[in-house]
Amino acid sequence: AKTSKKKMSLTAQIMVAMGVGIIVGVIFNTIQSDFINTHIVAGFFAMVGKMFVNALKMLVVPLVFFSLIGGVTGIGDIRVLGRVGGKSFALYLFTTACAIAMAIVLAQLIGPGAGFVMEGIDTSGVSAGEAPAVWDVFANIVPTNPIAAFANGEMLQVIFYTVILGVAVLMLGDESKPFIAAATYMNEVMMKIVSIVMLFAPYGVFCLIAKTFAEQGLGLFLPVLGYVITLVLALMIHLFGTLSLMLKVLGGLNPIIFMKKMRPAQVFAFSTASSNATIPVTYRSVTERVGVDKGVASFCIPFGATINMDGTAIMQGVATVFLANVYGIDLGLGGYITVIGMAILASIGTAGVPGVGLVMLTMVLGQVGLPIEGIAIILGVDRLMDMIRTAVNITGDAVVTTIVAKGEGKIDMDVFNDPDAGVVDD
Ligand code: ASP
Repeated sequence: AKTSKKKMSLTAQIMVAMGVGIIVGVIFNTIQSDFINTHIVAGFFAMVGKMFVNALKMLVVPLVFFSLIGGVTGIGDIRVLGRVGGKSFALYLFTTACAIAMAIVLAQLIGPGAGFVMEGIDTSGVSAGEAPAVWDVFANIVPTNPIAAFANGEMLQVIFYTVILGVAVLMLGDESKPFIAAATYMNEVMMKIVSIVMLFAPYGVFCLIAKTFAEQGLGLFLPVLGYVITLVLALMIHLFGTLSLMLKVLGGLNPIIFMKKMRPAQVFAFSTASSNATIPVTYRSVTERVGVDKGVASFCIPFGATINMDGTAIMQGVATVFLANVYGIDLGLGGYITVIGMAILASIGTAGVPGVGLVMLTMVLGQVGLPIEGIAIILGVDRLMDMIRTAVNITGDAVVTTIVAKGEGKIDMDVFNDPDAGVVDD
């Protein structure tokens, strides 16, 4: 974008908003004024932040619906559809498995949590989540009532229903033309609404970030610094190691260019801590900045936001090793293999919303017999960890989507190689 010196690009504005948000938040946290805490942080910041997240969420279901109809009818070939579905599913499982295995090994090497003193930790109020029954997870992909699925934002059900609808529309042939034209038009309209909502992004991001940092004292981090450092290190290794390597090896694509283009989506994931709410931004980044075909992205992005959580899986791995050390329990190889299996299953069965990683952790801990109260130890730092792992989650979604698109010849390399593509924020 040929932005003039006076006007910053929206991406730059969002980055600045994040930086200023952190500074303001930390200052407010040190001041600890009652007025600021009630009226500005828990009042005004919370309100603007919530409005912004709500606005993103309001886009998700209609955007996925219309873009996926366009995607299915645009791909036009059921075999290609099946291939995109199969490949993305396999790659999503693979990245999650790599992520958590690496996290467990790293945490074993660093060994956080040994010698931790439990004193003064309030463990009341921690309760176990229900582990999803494996077969139910799959059975529930088919909705009994599509309207309910749409109303509740059940993404797997929405995707399933929309794909079937798209296939039926395709099978009707010529008769479907007006419907496809209407859906394509509606998709354009939805993308316009995304642009409108994005205009408010700097304010939304600022308020969300300032609120979080104002509420979360840095003091929370000290007792669990070992956990935090190991976790952040594992997340970075996955982001800049595993995922970058996969892009290079499986997609033959330059990871540095890719990561740069994903930065705005990562900031959204970081400030909202929700892969689901970030779907419109991830979709937009992957199609307009990375150059992935809309057909592939419209399926793979919402699919990944639901079933793929690399960062969350990493957190499960580091947290189990950490808590095993705190309680002096040796889980053994079998225990850790159970952790890996559980974390993968749980990430398929749970939606990408804030804090769901903690619920998953209660299931994982229960499965290997670690005390669930242990979660109280890491509760205080979880919001910030959630923000970071969500950014990793959506990057994993985008990497797999891009690799699948590359394999199908459905990526526009001119767009990929153009640093300014999609930066013009209309
Ligand atoms: N907040 C994460 C997401 O939306 C899930 C989690 O780890 O809690 O992807």
